[in-house]
Amino acid sequence: NAKTDYELISKNEVLQFYRPREKYSHKGTYGHALIIGGSYGKIGAVTLASSAALKVGSGLVTAYVPECGYEILQTAIPEVMVISNGKSNIEDIEFDLEPTAVGIGIGMGTTDTSVKALENFLNRNKLPLVIDADALNILSQNQELLDLIPEKSILTPHPKELERLVGKWKDDFEKLEKVKRFSKERKLVVVIKGAHTITLFDGRGYINTTGNPGMATAGSGDTLTGIITGLMAQGYPSLQAAIFGVYIHGRSGDIAIEETGYQALIASDITKSIGSAFLDLF
Ligand code: AMP
Ligand code: MG
Repeated sequence: NAKTDYELISKNEVLQFYRPREKYSHKGTYGHALIIGGSYGKIGAVTLASSAALKVGSGLVTAYVPECGYEILQTAIPEVMVISNGKSNIEDIEFDLEPTAVGIGIGMGTTDTSVKALENFLNRNKLPLVIDADALNILSQNQELLDLIPEKSILTPHPKELERLVGKWKDDFEKLEKVKRFSKERKLVVVIKGAHTITLFDGRGYINTTGNPGMATAGSGDTLTGIITGLMAQGYPSLQAAIFGVYIHGRSGDIAIEETGYQALIASDITKSIGSAFLDLF
């Protein structure tokens, strides 16, 4: 009885690992998500991810941004704590808090300054990471840095970022085989984002069943990064955090379009519907 390589993920599958909120808990029970990214003109990415991390239930959320993002974040989201470094780009990543999950890369830029900051951070870091956007682009251009990524980290490339990472493919079959090999060799969870997002780990694929074309909009991926980081912060193992996060992100988008329609949906509408997506699990 050969195991199938792929599994469809809908409500029943995510309910198997959903962790209910406990009565005698406190914010420390639900972890501390750290979102690292942003640069001048791209602080919104971190704002979106931070609020999404809060909305999935992370006990604490800290945003790590350049100085130009400090007031923006403190004004936009009162619940988020902020650390800043560098003027319009992060120059160094150093902190004395103990996050339970870290999401890194959104809007951070790919200049030499960002490459150095990421490299130094990876050399010190031990936690599994959620790696997205410019951090992925930096890794694609400096593939030796891939060796510094802890096992079971989650990569969340959109199609262009994936192509930069693993090279071109001629059809979907070759794409999946390429990513499967990459993920297996490096023991990483790879979330192939698209209309049917597929999460790959250890030679198996998990095909998501939620989401809609309204979600093809600016910042949509940043909310996903925040959702997955927020779930990891609460103690979901990385594969579960990725599968569950992708499901909730899509379901939130599906609920959001009931009010906005496809055209008008924007990324923050996804975040607003996260609560309804959790309620809809039961
Ligand atoms: P990004 O390109 O990083 O902003 O990520 C886009 C996000 O929106 C990913 O989570 C995609 O899976 C999702 N998305 C984009 N286009 C579609 C689509 N046509 N149907 C469903 N989800 C989509
Ligand atoms: Mg993105």
